[in-house]
Amino acid sequence: MTVCPLCAAPAAPPFLRRDNVPVLQNHTAASAAEARAMPRGALRMAACDACGFVFNSAFDAALLRYGPGYDNTQSHSPAFAAHLDALARYLVRDRGVRGARIVEIGCGQGDFLRRLTEWSGAANSGVGFDPAYAGECGGGALRFVRGLYGPDNAVPADAVVCRHVIEHVADPLALLRTLRAALATSPQARVFFETPDAAWILRHAVPWDFFYEHCSLFSAASLTSAFARAGFRVAEVRHVFAGQYLWLEAGLGEPHAADAPDGIAALAQDYPAREAAQASAWRDRLARLSATGKIAVWGAGAKGATFASLADPQATAIDCLIDINPAKQGRCVPGTGHPILAPSMLAARGVRHVLPMNPAYHREIEAQLPPGTAIAEWAD
Ligand SMILES: [Zn+2]
Repeated sequence: MTVCPLCAAPAAPPFLRRDNVPVLQNHTAASAAEARAMPRGALRMAACDACGFVFNSAFDAALLRYGPGYDNTQSHSPAFAAHLDALARYLVRDRGVRGARIVEIGCGQGDFLRRLTEWSGAANSGVGFDPAYAGECGGGALRFVRGLYGPDNAVPADAVVCRHVIEHVADPLALLRTLRAALATSPQARVFFETPDAAWILRHAVPWDFFYEHCSLFSAASLTSAFARAGFRVAEVRHVFAGQYLWLEAGLGEPHAADAPDGIAALAQDYPAREAAQASAWRDRLARLSATGKIAVWGAGAKGATFASLADPQATAIDCLIDINPAKQGRCVPGTGHPILAPSMLAARGVRHVLPMNPAYHREIEAQLPPGTAIAEWAD
């Protein structure tokens, strides 16, 4: 019997099953053949009735390697950069993260930590940890460690930031308890986490927001309860990025009583019918669009790669994926092998329709389209 990794209650049967899904969505390939040969796994997304945690009960961490070659940088996007700027401003101005020793867990290439340490007048210093960090390790006020954070390499911290990491971890309680132990000598530290909101995904029935890398998805209640179980006192959980992400602040201390599981199990129960309706609608939509011109998907991140796998596994209906991250251009989508190209290639390929993977980016996509190419709405 499967039990919930958070609260150990018996888990309901999966509400979503997919086989042979690529295990890495942000690890592009050098060729279509290499892309199709990338490792695959099974998705069995289950929701816990007792605490609301959503998890892949078939997840196998051994299939994933987040090393060099993994690239989920989103800050080339003006909308995403604006989100990072707003979060940094919030931390420095509203939450008083100044003169602080900041640790960032899973710092990627350091875009956010750099904002916090270079914020004029904030006088922050930072240490970023990430096995996929590719740059110089630096020294002084901003340095990077190409590895995982834990008690063995703990550094004193006043603020710990961890964005878009916990959803990649099969045992989030272990991660939080490790963090709790690493902060034993920094009892004043405040902890800030950002992660997708499972309730938002289920409520909007977004099929491409379920993929292998995200084995652990939280709602506000299950995130609070995970932190409480690990010995943190949660100060607040709020929604950011147009409601898509949760932003949590916590400190060390006696936890509050656990929240009720905010209706996740019921949303999960309704999900399969809603996904089936969507899948049939987008298949019709792709067929109708391709009758009038070539189609590109905008965004070769996890959402775009997952949509390509679901809607066009043989790479026959979608011409290419567009991405503004130069490191992804000229490479291929894991699983399907669709080419990933720069927006400047749209005209030469004769692409007529662009499908945006995230409505948050509509305006900046529109600004980069050549004449004769338009955003295709998802519905007719
Ligand atoms: Zn549970």
